[in-house]
Amino acid sequence: SKFDLHEQYLNNQMVRVLRTIGYDRNYKRALGQYLYDQEGNEYLDLLSGFGVFAVGRNHPTVISALQETLTLELPNLVQMDVSLLSGLLAKEILATTPDNLDKMFFCNSGTEAVEAAIKFARYTTKRTKILYCEHGYHGLTMGSLALNGEEIFREGFGPMLPDCAAIPFNDLVALEQALSSKDVAAFIVEPIQGKGVNVPDDNYFPEVERLCKKYGTLFVADEVQTGIGRTGKFWAVEHWQVKPDMILMAKALSGGFVPVGGVAMTSKIMDTVFNRMDRAVVHGSTFSKNNMAMAAGLATLEVLRTENLIQNAAKVGEDIIGTINASAGQYEFLKEARGKGLMIAIEFQSPKSLSLKAAWAMLEAANKGLFCQMITIPLFKEHRVLSQVAGHGMNVVKLLPPLNLTPKDRDWVIGALDKTIADTHQ
Ligand code: PMP
Repeated sequence: SKFDLHEQYLNNQMVRVLRTIGYDRNYKRALGQYLYDQEGNEYLDLLSGFGVFAVGRNHPTVISALQETLTLELPNLVQMDVSLLSGLLAKEILATTPDNLDKMFFCNSGTEAVEAAIKFARYTTKRTKILYCEHGYHGLTMGSLALNGEEIFREGFGPMLPDCAAIPFNDLVALEQALSSKDVAAFIVEPIQGKGVNVPDDNYFPEVERLCKKYGTLFVADEVQTGIGRTGKFWAVEHWQVKPDMILMAKALSGGFVPVGGVAMTSKIMDTVFNRMDRAVVHGSTFSKNNMAMAAGLATLEVLRTENLIQNAAKVGEDIIGTINASAGQYEFLKEARGKGLMIAIEFQSPKSLSLKAAWAMLEAANKGLFCQMITIPLFKEHRVLSQVAGHGMNVVKLLPPLNLTPKDRDWVIGALDKTIADTHQ
């Protein structure tokens, strides 16, 4: 049966980790921010498929849109570059992006959006170098892998795409130094790094925009995780009012049902890359712009609007971060909560008092991240709340919930965290 197959996956290393926080379960049902097990117990999902289910799982509006699309007998000119729904979705997305972006390219995933951006940047600037950030994440195919900020992902898969170089995130001196040779095609960067929810200083992105312009480099914001309302704005770059040359998107855009990705870009980039008399096919892939992805995208944007999910994410996120930070002084090992909207990290640190410090050191020596597992495991087991250990030091409990969290959910999270942290402190 299907469930036997599910059991076979339990040998996989990833699932061994997920087992500790409950993601290996045979959940029977899912709706919105909740998962239900075979016995009907309700769980609060604070990861939402790593941000894919921004509107919640199985949203009825998205399901209806998909069902309707299947009955319309649309011509479905896959591969032929013509689709009514992609035109509509492009128009809606471009109404949300900074006003310098007025063209859309669709693909099937986040990593494909990154691959496209690398090609578009090289072709447009006639330069080859791509700059990225340490501890960043842009995907795992050969182009995006070359931009992965953790060396471990590349081990055994070389040689890598040449001419890619890393600089520290949130470091303007390093950025200017790297750009000043005037041979960098693009700087590809997450507005907030997903890995540890690293939020840059407020002057970082305005300066990134200025420096990229100064040295002729394209500024590419990878909003695969931060986009579509996640941070309490439609795009995270809105927090700093900057205008990237390209915005990359995927994940939440199709409500979690259909693979989708996209690149919003300037007309100049689109025209340079695609308006060529010598070639019909420049870049693309068979299923990009397929009707199901586009219909799901349109429905997802409708849900974001009608349910005020972006405003909700901003408010509930601020509440959660504020409440946790208010109790940070109480517990030596609780450093801070940070993030924007519903992209939140709760960071833990080695405590000062001797006995706790020794316990911490022992746990960390046994397994990086074990301390944070002491939070996530009881969160799941005692409070039925699902979260993740993350950060490059594995010292962070990360929350990336659906954007529709209610006041009741907020109290559920805060109560569970409070109790778990207090119990761990003893
Ligand atoms: N960029 C960012 C910022 C991401 O978070 C991810 C996925 N975690 C990707 C790119 C890759 O997206 P995908 O898994 O759809 O290829």
